Amino acid sequence: MRKVTILILAIIAPVTQLLAVDFDEHFKNKTMRFDYHHTGNADEEHFAFDEIVSDGSWAGPKSQLVDTLRLGKYFFEIKDPGTGKLLYSRGYSSIYGEWETTPDAKKNWGVYHESLRFPWPKHPVDLIIYKRNENHNFEPVYNYHIKTDHYRVNPESREDYFESFPVVENGAPHEKVDIVILSEGYTKEEMDKFQKDAERFADALLSQEPFASRKADFNIRAVEVPSPSSGLNHPHQDIHKRSALSVSYGAFNSERYALGYNNKKIRNAASTVPYEFTVLMMNDSIYGGGGIYNLYITASADNAFRDYLFVHEFGHHFADLADEYYTSATSYEMNKDLKEPWELNVTANPDPETIKWKELVTEGTPIPTPWEKEKYDKHGMKIQKKRNKLREEHASEEVMEELFKEQKKWDEQHLSNMKYSGHVGAFEGAQYKAKGMYRSEANCIMFTRHNEFCAACQRAIKLVIDQYTE
Ligand SMILES: [Zn+2]
Repeated sequence: MRKVTILILAIIAPVTQLLAVDFDEHFKNKTMRFDYHHTGNADEEHFAFDEIVSDGSWAGPKSQLVDTLRLGKYFFEIKDPGTGKLLYSRGYSSIYGEWETTPDAKKNWGVYHESLRFPWPKHPVDLIIYKRNENHNFEPVYNYHIKTDHYRVNPESREDYFESFPVVENGAPHEKVDIVILSEGYTKEEMDKFQKDAERFADALLSQEPFASRKADFNIRAVEVPSPSSGLNHPHQDIHKRSALSVSYGAFNSERYALGYNNKKIRNAASTVPYEFTVLMMNDSIYGGGGIYNLYITASADNAFRDYLFVHEFGHHFADLADEYYTSATSYEMNKDLKEPWELNVTANPDPETIKWKELVTEGTPIPTPWEKEKYDKHGMKIQKKRNKLREEHASEEVMEELFKEQKKWDEQHLSNMKYSGHVGAFEGAQYKAKGMYRSEANCIMFTRHNEFCAACQRAIKLVIDQYTE
């Protein structure tokens, strides 16, 4: 009889109650940082524990400890070894996760240093890392039993090596989304400029919906990490620098993709202030950057498209938004066997009854939604050709910028004057695929250098804000 009652209670209890974890029972108000090496090649993958350090006070939420969004290529859980109770979880992506798909991984081994951050447990816990399998389901790939008194666990707080300043302050860290901006490629003498660039980032982000309506939910702080010289490393242009946080253009041999590889140094600098999300502000005028879910963004501070870059890259980092663009040149390549992506702004399922953003669809909009794709693709190919030619000619950044401006103007004009412009539907062409993959609106900041997020992106961002605010 008793069993039956418990079962019924379990069915009617809201999911949130079942997942509720008493923070103070299990955790101290500080952050545990689990550092490890992630290594492998295209065929195998390994994890090796490095050390555990204290990473400052806990900035994350104290009530929403379990991640119900389940985004990212990887996912980790903290569990009570005795009862198996899930105490904390978060999804994330990594440089390793991108690198393993590159041609280099077919020939060589790679090793990347990574960190997982969670509240400091009061008792021993189990850490489990999961990875998406080919059907996009999470499968366990690593586990580690954390003993809080292990000799490689250092509970000592770090002294602040770096100067920091507030950019936006709205309340206690565990109640707010906390962003840290680190300077990269700024000399000591350039910190006034860094302050202006950090403020510019905050303005660009918080003037964009849905961030604008939720401004009061954000804290933004900046940390000054001086570099010996001004600017960043550009291997493709033979400009070589050794900046403080190891950020470099040319990641995975892609000219405008910038990543930082010295994870420990980046994490140590970031933990000068309470944080959940990280911006590596690049003191450079060359258009470029990158954004990885729950790791960081990089973005150059001094080009004409900086505001767009800040927000676009932050979309990747904050809500695991997929790129909605595709290359017109691959228009006629058919993609067989498309799996439904986990990202909330793209879908391979253009079915009006079950499409993942069904509630957002504008009434009377056909799914899939017709749009002037051929014309868009034709223009896209023309721009691509021009861009390749300019690259071969080693054209100046100003000339490149003019091309990007011309492209933006044409895109805006074209995409805002179609029958279903402004409607939410399912527009074919997204996530690097010209066919079989769909986005929710004709235009979006994740599709072109447009100024606004589409409805599906906005909803995803709101869900993440909700998860980090109390
Ligand atoms: Zn979008």
